[in-house]
Amino acid sequence: MDTFANIPETTKKRVVIIGVGFAGLSLAKKIDKNIYQVVLIDKNNYHQFQPLFYQVATAGLEPSAISFPLRKVFQKNKDIHIRVCEVTEIIEKENYLLTNIGRINYDYLVVATGADTNYYGNKEIQKNALSMKSVSEALYIRNRVLCNFEEALTTKDLELQKELLNIVVVGGGPTGVEVSGTLAEMKKTVLPKDYPELDFNMMTITLVEAGSHVLGSMSETSSVHAKKFLKQLGVKVLVNTRVSGYDGDILTFVDGNTIRTKTLIWAAGIKAAVITGIPESSIHKSGRILVDAFNKIEGTKNIFALGDVCLMLSDEKFTNGHPQVAQPAMQQGVLLADNLKRSAMNIHWKEFAYKDLGSMATVGRNLAVVELPNFKFHGFFAWLVWMLVHLMSIVGVKNRLFVFINWVWNYISYDQSLRLIIKPKRRDE
Ligand SMILES: Cc1cc2nc3c(=O)[nH]c(=O)nc-3n(C[C@H](O)[C@H](O)[C@H](O)COP(=O)(O)OP(=O)(O)OC[C@H]3O[C@@H](n4cnc5c(N)ncnc54)[C@H](O)[C@@H]3O)c2cc1C
Repeated sequence: MDTFANIPETTKKRVVIIGVGFAGLSLAKKIDKNIYQVVLIDKNNYHQFQPLFYQVATAGLEPSAISFPLRKVFQKNKDIHIRVCEVTEIIEKENYLLTNIGRINYDYLVVATGADTNYYGNKEIQKNALSMKSVSEALYIRNRVLCNFEEALTTKDLELQKELLNIVVVGGGPTGVEVSGTLAEMKKTVLPKDYPELDFNMMTITLVEAGSHVLGSMSETSSVHAKKFLKQLGVKVLVNTRVSGYDGDILTFVDGNTIRTKTLIWAAGIKAAVITGIPESSIHKSGRILVDAFNKIEGTKNIFALGDVCLMLSDEKFTNGHPQVAQPAMQQGVLLADNLKRSAMNIHWKEFAYKDLGSMATVGRNLAVVELPNFKFHGFFAWLVWMLVHLMSIVGVKNRLFVFINWVWNYISYDQSLRLIIKPKRRDE
Protein backbone atom coordinates (compact mmCIF):
# COMPACT_ATOMS: atom_id res chain seq x y z
CA MET A 1 0.00 0.00 0.00
CA ASP A 2 1.47 3.38 -0.92
CA THR A 3 -1.25 5.73 0.32
CA PHE A 4 -0.28 7.96 3.22
CA ALA A 5 -1.79 7.45 6.65
CA ASN A 6 -3.63 10.61 7.62
CA ILE A 7 -1.17 12.35 9.96
CA PRO A 8 -0.98 16.16 10.04
CA GLU A 9 2.19 17.72 8.64
CA THR A 10 3.91 20.29 10.89
CA THR A 11 7.20 22.16 10.86
CA LYS A 12 8.49 20.04 13.75
CA LYS A 13 10.62 16.97 13.20
CA ARG A 14 8.56 13.79 13.49
CA VAL A 15 9.45 10.96 15.88
CA VAL A 16 7.56 7.75 15.12
CA ILE A 17 7.47 5.22 17.96
CA ILE A 18 6.46 1.66 17.08
CA GLY A 19 5.19 -0.16 20.17
CA VAL A 20 3.76 1.45 23.29
CA GLY A 21 4.96 -1.07 25.85
CA PHE A 22 7.21 -0.13 28.76
CA ALA A 23 9.90 1.41 26.53
CA GLY A 24 7.67 3.21 24.04
CA LEU A 25 5.41 4.57 26.75
CA SER A 26 8.21 6.00 28.88
CA LEU A 27 9.76 7.64 25.80
CA ALA A 28 6.41 9.05 24.64
CA LYS A 29 5.67 10.50 28.07
CA LYS A 30 9.06 12.16 28.43
CA ILE A 31 9.78 13.39 24.92
CA ASP A 32 9.55 17.15 24.51
CA LYS A 33 6.42 17.69 22.41
CA ASN A 34 7.27 21.36 21.90
CA ILE A 35 10.25 20.22 19.87
CA TYR A 36 8.96 17.06 18.21
CA GLN A 37 5.77 15.83 16.64
CA VAL A 38 5.17 12.32 18.02
CA VAL A 39 3.38 9.50 16.23
CA LEU A 40 2.62 6.49 18.43
CA ILE A 41 1.87 3.21 16.73
CA ASP A 42 0.64 0.04 18.38
CA LYS A 43 -1.39 -3.02 17.37
CA ASN A 44 -3.57 -2.39 20.41
CA ASN A 45 -5.22 0.80 21.62
CA TYR A 46 -3.96 0.14 25.14
CA HIS A 47 -0.78 -0.35 27.12
CA GLN A 48 -0.55 -3.75 28.82
CA PHE A 49 1.08 -4.50 32.15
CA GLN A 50 2.66 -7.86 31.34
CA PRO A 51 3.91 -8.78 34.83
CA LEU A 52 0.32 -9.38 35.94
CA PHE A 53 -0.91 -11.34 32.90
CA TYR A 54 -0.75 -14.48 34.98
CA GLN A 55 -3.37 -13.06 37.36
CA VAL A 56 -5.75 -12.53 34.43
CA ALA A 57 -5.03 -16.08 33.25
CA THR A 58 -5.86 -17.43 36.71
CA ALA A 59 -9.02 -15.32 37.17
CA GLY A 60 -7.46 -13.09 39.83
CA LEU A 61 -7.79 -9.80 37.92
CA GLU A 62 -9.93 -8.45 35.12
CA PRO A 63 -8.03 -7.55 31.90
CA SER A 64 -9.11 -3.92 32.23
CA ALA A 65 -7.31 -3.63 35.58
CA ILE A 66 -3.92 -4.13 33.92
CA SER A 67 -4.54 -2.45 30.56
CA PHE A 68 -4.75 1.28 30.00
CA PRO A 69 -6.15 3.09 26.92
CA LEU A 70 -3.39 4.97 25.11
CA ARG A 71 -5.68 7.85 24.18
CA LYS A 72 -6.42 8.45 27.85
CA VAL A 73 -2.70 8.57 28.74
CA PHE A 74 -2.11 11.32 26.18
CA GLN A 75 -5.44 13.16 26.31
CA LYS A 76 -3.80 16.40 27.41
CA ASN A 77 -0.95 16.29 24.88
CA LYS A 78 -1.12 18.17 21.61
CA ASP A 79 0.78 17.06 18.53
CA ILE A 80 0.91 13.46 19.60
CA HIS A 81 -0.89 11.21 17.16
CA ILE A 82 -1.91 7.67 18.06
CA ARG A 83 -2.53 5.17 15.28
CA VAL A 84 -3.75 1.67 16.06
CA CYS A 85 -2.20 -0.36 13.29
CA GLU A 86 0.48 -2.89 12.52
CA VAL A 87 3.80 -1.96 10.98
CA THR A 88 4.74 -4.38 8.24
CA GLU A 89 7.98 -2.92 6.88
CA ILE A 90 10.52 -0.18 7.41
CA ILE A 91 11.87 1.44 4.25
CA GLU A 92 15.07 2.59 5.87
CA LYS A 93 16.71 4.33 2.90
CA GLU A 94 13.69 6.60 2.36
CA ASN A 95 12.64 7.18 5.99
CA TYR A 96 9.15 5.78 5.92
CA LEU A 97 7.12 2.85 7.23
CA LEU A 98 4.51 0.66 5.67
CA THR A 99 1.54 -0.13 7.86
CA ASN A 100 -1.92 -1.58 7.33
CA ILE A 101 -3.33 1.98 7.35
CA GLY A 102 -0.82 3.39 4.87
CA ARG A 103 2.60 4.90 4.66
CA ILE A 104 4.05 6.99 7.51
CA ASN A 105 7.15 9.17 7.09
CA TYR A 106 9.57 9.80 9.91
CA ASP A 107 12.57 11.92 10.82
CA TYR A 108 13.45 9.67 13.73
CA LEU A 109 12.12 6.15 14.13
CA VAL A 110 12.02 4.20 17.38
CA VAL A 111 11.42 0.45 17.32
CA ALA A 112 10.04 -0.66 20.69
CA THR A 113 8.16 -3.75 19.59
CA GLY A 114 9.19 -6.00 22.49
CA ALA A 115 9.26 -9.76 22.07
CA ASP A 116 7.03 -12.65 21.02
CA THR A 117 6.78 -16.16 22.40
CA ASN A 118 9.62 -18.40 21.29
CA TYR A 119 8.67 -21.99 20.43
CA TYR A 120 12.20 -22.71 19.20
CA GLY A 121 10.86 -23.80 15.84
CA ASN A 122 8.50 -26.49 17.19
CA LYS A 123 5.37 -25.97 15.08
CA GLU A 124 3.38 -28.65 16.91
CA ILE A 125 3.90 -26.96 20.26
CA GLN A 126 3.17 -23.55 18.72
CA LYS A 127 -0.14 -24.88 17.39
CA ASN A 128 -1.32 -26.60 20.56
CA ALA A 129 0.22 -24.78 23.53
CA LEU A 130 -1.14 -21.63 25.18
CA SER A 131 1.15 -18.63 25.47
CA MET A 132 0.86 -15.52 27.62
CA LYS A 133 2.32 -12.59 25.68
CA SER A 134 -0.80 -10.45 25.55
CA VAL A 135 -3.82 -9.74 27.69
CA SER A 136 -5.98 -11.52 25.07
CA GLU A 137 -3.87 -14.66 25.39
CA ALA A 138 -4.10 -14.49 29.18
CA LEU A 139 -7.88 -14.27 28.89
CA TYR A 140 -7.85 -17.20 26.50
CA ILE A 141 -6.01 -19.30 29.11
CA ARG A 142 -8.64 -18.36 31.70
CA ASN A 143 -11.42 -19.46 29.33
CA ARG A 144 -9.66 -22.67 28.35
CA VAL A 145 -9.01 -23.76 31.94
CA LEU A 146 -12.59 -23.02 33.01
CA CYS A 147 -14.05 -24.73 29.92
CA ASN A 148 -11.95 -27.81 30.67
CA PHE A 149 -13.40 -28.01 34.18
CA GLU A 150 -16.92 -27.66 32.76
CA GLU A 151 -16.18 -30.45 30.28
CA ALA A 152 -14.71 -32.67 33.01
CA LEU A 153 -18.11 -32.58 34.73
CA THR A 154 -19.75 -34.05 31.65
CA THR A 155 -17.78 -37.30 31.47
CA LYS A 156 -17.58 -40.46 33.57
CA ASP A 157 -14.28 -41.40 31.93
CA LEU A 158 -11.78 -40.81 34.75
CA GLU A 159 -8.76 -40.79 32.42
CA LEU A 160 -10.36 -38.04 30.34
CA GLN A 161 -11.32 -36.13 33.50
CA LYS A 162 -7.71 -36.27 34.66
CA GLU A 163 -6.48 -35.04 31.28
CA LEU A 164 -8.91 -32.13 31.44
CA LEU A 165 -7.86 -31.19 34.97
CA ASN A 166 -4.09 -31.58 34.56
CA ILE A 167 -2.17 -28.43 33.74
CA VAL A 168 1.46 -28.33 32.64
CA VAL A 169 3.46 -25.12 32.62
CA VAL A 170 6.70 -25.17 30.64
CA GLY A 171 9.41 -22.69 31.65
CA GLY A 172 10.64 -22.16 35.20
CA GLY A 173 11.28 -18.41 34.93
CA PRO A 174 9.22 -15.89 36.95
CA THR A 175 6.15 -16.29 34.70
CA GLY A 176 6.10 -20.10 34.94
CA VAL A 177 6.66 -20.01 38.68
CA GLU A 178 3.95 -17.40 39.22
CA VAL A 179 1.30 -19.05 37.10
CA SER A 180 1.87 -22.57 38.43
CA GLY A 181 1.91 -21.34 42.05
CA THR A 182 -1.36 -19.46 41.56
CA LEU A 183 -3.04 -22.41 39.85
CA ALA A 184 -2.00 -24.61 42.77
CA GLU A 185 -3.60 -22.13 45.17
CA MET A 186 -6.81 -22.19 43.13
CA LYS A 187 -6.80 -25.96 43.27
CA LYS A 188 -6.68 -25.79 47.06
CA THR A 189 -9.10 -22.95 47.62
CA VAL A 190 -11.67 -21.99 45.01
CA LEU A 191 -11.91 -24.90 42.57
CA PRO A 192 -13.22 -27.57 44.99
CA LYS A 193 -15.92 -25.07 46.06
CA ASP A 194 -16.91 -24.31 42.44
CA TYR A 195 -16.80 -27.93 41.28
CA PRO A 196 -17.68 -30.13 44.27
CA GLU A 197 -18.52 -33.02 41.92
CA LEU A 198 -14.91 -33.26 40.70
CA ASP A 199 -12.14 -35.01 42.60
CA PHE A 200 -9.30 -32.50 42.69
CA ASN A 201 -6.90 -35.15 43.99
CA MET A 202 -6.77 -36.19 40.35
CA MET A 203 -5.53 -32.78 39.25
CA THR A 204 -1.78 -32.26 38.92
CA ILE A 205 -0.03 -28.98 38.21
CA THR A 206 3.40 -29.63 36.79
CA LEU A 207 6.12 -27.06 36.19
CA VAL A 208 8.74 -28.18 33.68
CA GLU A 209 12.16 -26.54 33.42
CA ALA A 210 14.94 -27.57 31.03
CA GLY A 211 17.68 -26.11 33.25
CA SER A 212 18.74 -27.35 36.65
CA HIS A 213 16.91 -24.61 38.62
CA VAL A 214 13.68 -22.66 38.57
CA LEU A 215 14.23 -18.88 38.49
CA GLY A 216 17.54 -19.51 36.75
CA SER A 217 18.20 -15.77 36.30
CA MET A 218 18.13 -15.22 40.08
CA SER A 219 20.51 -16.46 42.79
CA GLU A 220 20.63 -20.09 43.88
CA THR A 221 19.13 -19.14 47.27
CA SER A 222 16.06 -17.57 45.64
CA SER A 223 15.75 -20.52 43.32
CA VAL A 224 15.85 -23.00 46.21
CA HIS A 225 13.24 -21.00 48.13
CA ALA A 226 10.97 -20.76 45.10
CA LYS A 227 11.17 -24.51 44.54
CA LYS A 228 10.39 -25.15 48.20
CA PHE A 229 7.39 -22.78 48.06
CA LEU A 230 6.10 -24.46 44.90
CA LYS A 231 6.33 -27.90 46.48
CA GLN A 232 4.59 -26.57 49.59
CA LEU A 233 1.69 -25.52 47.34
CA GLY A 234 1.61 -28.93 45.68
CA VAL A 235 3.21 -28.09 42.32
CA LYS A 236 5.19 -30.97 40.81
CA VAL A 237 8.50 -29.43 39.72
CA LEU A 238 10.51 -31.20 37.01
CA VAL A 239 13.97 -29.72 36.39
CA ASN A 240 16.53 -30.88 33.80
CA THR A 241 13.51 -31.92 31.75
CA ARG A 242 13.04 -30.96 28.12
CA VAL A 243 9.78 -31.07 26.20
CA SER A 244 9.89 -32.45 22.66
CA GLY A 245 6.27 -32.30 21.49
CA TYR A 246 2.64 -31.71 22.35
CA ASP A 247 -0.29 -32.79 20.19
CA GLY A 248 -3.03 -31.17 22.29
CA ASP A 249 -3.52 -34.29 24.45
CA ILE A 250 -0.11 -35.79 25.11
CA LEU A 251 2.98 -33.90 26.16
CA THR A 252 6.16 -35.76 25.28
CA PHE A 253 9.56 -35.25 26.87
CA VAL A 254 12.93 -35.80 25.22
CA ASP A 255 13.49 -38.86 27.46
CA GLY A 256 10.30 -40.45 26.08
CA ASN A 257 8.11 -39.90 29.15
CA THR A 258 4.66 -38.41 28.61
CA ILE A 259 1.93 -36.53 30.49
CA ARG A 260 -1.71 -36.42 29.38
CA THR A 261 -3.04 -32.87 29.57
CA LYS A 262 -5.46 -30.64 27.69
CA THR A 263 -3.69 -27.51 28.96
CA LEU A 264 -0.08 -26.72 28.23
CA ILE A 265 1.02 -23.20 29.14
CA TRP A 266 4.21 -22.27 27.31
CA ALA A 267 6.36 -19.80 29.25
CA ALA A 268 9.69 -21.13 28.05
CA GLY A 269 11.16 -18.24 26.15
CA ILE A 270 10.83 -15.15 24.04
CA LYS A 271 12.25 -13.88 20.77
CA ALA A 272 12.69 -10.28 19.68
CA ALA A 273 9.80 -8.93 17.57
CA VAL A 274 11.90 -7.58 14.70
CA ILE A 275 10.22 -5.76 11.80
CA THR A 276 11.19 -6.39 8.17
CA GLY A 277 13.50 -3.71 6.79
CA ILE A 278 15.98 -3.49 9.64
CA PRO A 279 19.42 -4.16 8.10
CA GLU A 280 20.31 -7.86 8.41
CA SER A 281 23.81 -6.90 9.58
CA SER A 282 22.28 -5.21 12.66
CA ILE A 283 20.56 -8.36 13.86
CA HIS A 284 22.50 -10.38 16.41
CA LYS A 285 22.46 -14.19 16.27
CA SER A 286 20.13 -14.13 19.29
CA GLY A 287 17.58 -12.36 17.06
CA ARG A 288 17.81 -9.06 18.98
CA ILE A 289 18.68 -5.80 17.19
CA LEU A 290 22.18 -4.53 17.89
CA VAL A 291 22.26 -0.97 19.17
CA ASP A 292 25.02 1.37 20.27
CA ALA A 293 25.26 3.06 23.68
CA PHE A 294 22.59 5.59 22.59
CA ASN A 295 20.18 2.87 21.45
CA LYS A 296 20.79 3.75 17.80
CA ILE A 297 20.54 0.69 15.56
CA GLU A 298 23.95 -0.18 14.21
CA GLY A 299 24.35 0.80 10.56
CA THR A 300 21.48 3.32 10.58
CA LYS A 301 21.44 7.12 11.01
CA ASN A 302 18.10 7.86 12.62
CA ILE A 303 16.56 4.58 13.79
CA PHE A 304 16.61 3.51 17.42
CA ALA A 305 15.56 0.33 19.18
CA LEU A 306 14.58 0.10 22.85
CA GLY A 307 13.67 -2.58 25.38
CA ASP A 308 13.28 -6.30 24.77
CA VAL A 309 13.80 -6.05 21.03
CA CYS A 310 17.33 -4.60 21.28
CA LEU A 311 20.72 -5.80 22.39
CA MET A 312 23.26 -3.33 23.72
CA LEU A 313 26.70 -4.81 24.34
CA SER A 314 28.48 -1.58 25.27
CA ASP A 315 27.25 -1.27 28.88
CA GLU A 316 30.31 -2.41 30.81
CA LYS A 317 28.34 -4.07 33.62
CA PHE A 318 26.11 -5.94 31.14
CA THR A 319 28.43 -7.08 28.39
CA ASN A 320 26.00 -9.81 27.32
CA GLY A 321 23.16 -7.30 27.05
CA HIS A 322 20.50 -6.22 29.50
CA PRO A 323 17.89 -8.57 30.92
CA GLN A 324 14.62 -8.53 28.95
CA VAL A 325 12.55 -7.01 31.73
CA ALA A 326 10.65 -3.77 32.27
CA GLN A 327 13.33 -1.63 33.92
CA PRO A 328 15.93 -1.49 31.10
CA ALA A 329 13.11 -0.77 28.64
CA MET A 330 11.79 2.14 30.74
CA GLN A 331 15.23 3.56 31.50
CA GLN A 332 16.20 3.45 27.82
CA GLY A 333 12.98 5.27 26.90
CA VAL A 334 13.65 8.05 29.40
CA LEU A 335 17.24 8.49 28.23
CA LEU A 336 16.32 8.62 24.55
CA ALA A 337 13.76 11.37 25.29
CA ASP A 338 16.52 13.32 26.99
CA ASN A 339 18.99 12.67 24.17
CA LEU A 340 16.52 13.80 21.51
CA LYS A 341 16.14 17.04 23.43
CA ARG A 342 19.91 17.33 23.59
CA SER A 343 20.02 16.84 19.83
CA ALA A 344 17.70 19.81 19.31
CA MET A 345 19.94 21.87 21.62
CA ASN A 346 23.15 20.66 19.96
CA ILE A 347 24.46 19.16 23.21
CA HIS A 348 26.37 15.86 23.24
CA TRP A 349 24.31 12.73 23.92
CA LYS A 350 24.53 10.66 27.10
CA GLU A 351 25.39 6.96 26.96
CA PHE A 352 23.02 4.44 28.52
CA ALA A 353 24.09 2.77 31.78
CA TYR A 354 21.52 0.43 33.27
CA LYS A 355 20.66 0.97 36.93
CA ASP A 356 19.71 -2.48 38.17
CA LEU A 357 17.01 -2.08 40.81
CA GLY A 358 16.81 -5.83 41.49
CA SER A 359 14.43 -8.64 40.62
CA MET A 360 11.60 -10.51 42.28
CA ALA A 361 9.03 -13.24 41.79
CA THR A 362 6.03 -14.37 43.77
CA VAL A 363 4.96 -17.97 44.14
CA GLY A 364 1.72 -17.43 46.00
CA ARG A 365 0.06 -15.94 49.06
CA ASN A 366 2.76 -14.75 51.49
CA LEU A 367 5.45 -16.40 49.37
CA ALA A 368 7.91 -14.44 47.25
CA VAL A 369 11.61 -13.95 46.64
CA VAL A 370 13.21 -10.53 46.26
CA GLU A 371 16.77 -9.65 45.25
CA LEU A 372 17.77 -6.02 45.70
CA PRO A 373 21.28 -4.96 44.63
CA ASN A 374 22.70 -5.54 48.15
CA PHE A 375 20.04 -7.55 49.92
CA LYS A 376 18.09 -10.76 49.31
CA PHE A 377 15.04 -11.90 51.23
CA HIS A 378 12.04 -14.18 50.89
CA GLY A 379 8.69 -15.04 52.46
CA PHE A 380 5.96 -12.72 53.71
CA PHE A 381 7.93 -9.46 53.69
CA ALA A 382 9.19 -10.21 50.18
CA TRP A 383 5.59 -10.82 49.12
CA LEU A 384 4.54 -7.40 50.50
CA VAL A 385 7.39 -5.72 48.65
CA TRP A 386 6.46 -7.58 45.45
CA MET A 387 2.87 -6.33 45.76
CA LEU A 388 3.88 -2.74 46.47
CA VAL A 389 6.33 -2.55 43.56
CA HIS A 390 3.83 -4.03 41.11
CA LEU A 391 1.01 -1.84 42.36
CA MET A 392 3.04 1.33 41.96
CA SER A 393 4.13 0.33 38.44
CA ILE A 394 0.62 -0.07 37.04
CA VAL A 395 -0.50 2.79 34.78
CA GLY A 396 -3.52 4.72 36.07
CA VAL A 397 -4.69 5.55 39.58
CA LYS A 398 -8.05 3.80 39.08
CA ASN A 399 -6.31 0.62 37.90
CA ARG A 400 -4.00 0.69 40.92
CA LEU A 401 -6.96 1.09 43.23
CA PHE A 402 -8.90 -1.73 41.53
CA VAL A 403 -5.94 -4.11 41.69
CA PHE A 404 -5.38 -3.23 45.35
CA ILE A 405 -9.05 -3.83 46.22
CA ASN A 406 -9.00 -7.12 44.29
CA TRP A 407 -5.90 -8.30 46.15
CA VAL A 408 -7.30 -7.37 49.55
CA TRP A 409 -10.61 -9.04 48.75
CA ASN A 410 -8.87 -12.14 47.50
CA TYR A 411 -6.63 -12.25 50.57
CA ILE A 412 -9.60 -12.13 52.92
CA SER A 413 -12.08 -14.26 50.99
CA TYR A 414 -9.81 -16.71 49.08
CA ASP A 415 -12.38 -16.28 46.33
CA GLN A 416 -12.21 -13.73 43.56
CA SER A 417 -15.45 -14.56 41.70
CA LEU A 418 -14.00 -13.54 38.32
CA ARG A 419 -14.35 -16.99 36.86
CA LEU A 420 -16.47 -15.98 33.88
CA ILE A 421 -16.19 -17.66 30.51
CA ILE A 422 -16.66 -14.72 28.16
CA LYS A 423 -16.19 -15.42 24.48
CA PRO A 424 -16.73 -12.32 22.31
CA LYS A 425 -18.92 -13.06 19.26
CA ARG A 426 -21.65 -11.61 17.05
CA ARG A 427 -25.27 -12.49 17.72
CA ASP A 428 -25.54 -14.72 14.64
CA GLU A 429 -22.32 -16.70 15.22
C1 LIG B 1 3.87 -12.94 31.31
C2 LIG B 1 5.01 -11.96 31.49
C3 LIG B 1 5.41 -11.60 32.76
C4 LIG B 1 6.44 -10.69 32.95
N1 LIG B 1 6.80 -10.33 34.22
C5 LIG B 1 7.74 -9.38 34.41
C6 LIG B 1 8.06 -8.91 35.71
O1 LIG B 1 7.50 -9.38 36.71
N2 LIG B 1 8.99 -7.93 35.84
C7 LIG B 1 9.62 -7.39 34.75
O2 LIG B 1 10.43 -6.47 34.90
N3 LIG B 1 9.36 -7.82 33.51
C8 LIG B 1 8.44 -8.78 33.30
N4 LIG B 1 8.15 -9.23 32.04
C9 LIG B 1 8.94 -8.70 30.92
C10 LIG B 1 8.47 -7.30 30.55
O3 LIG B 1 7.07 -7.29 30.40
C11 LIG B 1 9.16 -6.90 29.26
O4 LIG B 1 10.55 -6.92 29.48
C12 LIG B 1 8.74 -5.51 28.83
O5 LIG B 1 7.37 -5.50 28.51
C13 LIG B 1 9.55 -5.05 27.63
O6 LIG B 1 9.10 -3.79 27.26
P1 LIG B 1 9.14 -3.34 25.73
O7 LIG B 1 8.64 -1.93 25.72
O8 LIG B 1 10.45 -3.64 25.14
O9 LIG B 1 8.09 -4.29 24.98
P2 LIG B 1 6.52 -4.58 25.28
O10 LIG B 1 6.16 -4.07 26.63
O11 LIG B 1 6.35 -5.99 24.97
O12 LIG B 1 5.81 -3.68 24.20
C14 LIG B 1 5.85 -3.93 22.82
C15 LIG B 1 4.67 -3.23 22.16
O13 LIG B 1 4.86 -3.26 20.76
C16 LIG B 1 3.64 -3.53 20.10
N5 LIG B 1 3.99 -4.11 18.79
C17 LIG B 1 4.78 -5.18 18.54
N6 LIG B 1 4.94 -5.37 17.23
C18 LIG B 1 4.23 -4.39 16.61
C19 LIG B 1 3.99 -4.07 15.24
N7 LIG B 1 4.53 -4.75 14.22
N8 LIG B 1 3.17 -3.01 14.95
C20 LIG B 1 2.62 -2.30 15.97
N9 LIG B 1 2.83 -2.55 17.27
C21 LIG B 1 3.62 -3.59 17.59
C22 LIG B 1 2.95 -4.49 21.05
O14 LIG B 1 1.55 -4.50 20.86
C23 LIG B 1 3.34 -3.93 22.42
O15 LIG B 1 2.42 -2.99 22.91
C24 LIG B 1 7.11 -10.14 31.83
C25 LIG B 1 6.72 -10.52 30.54
C26 LIG B 1 5.67 -11.42 30.38
C27 LIG B 1 5.24 -11.80 28.99
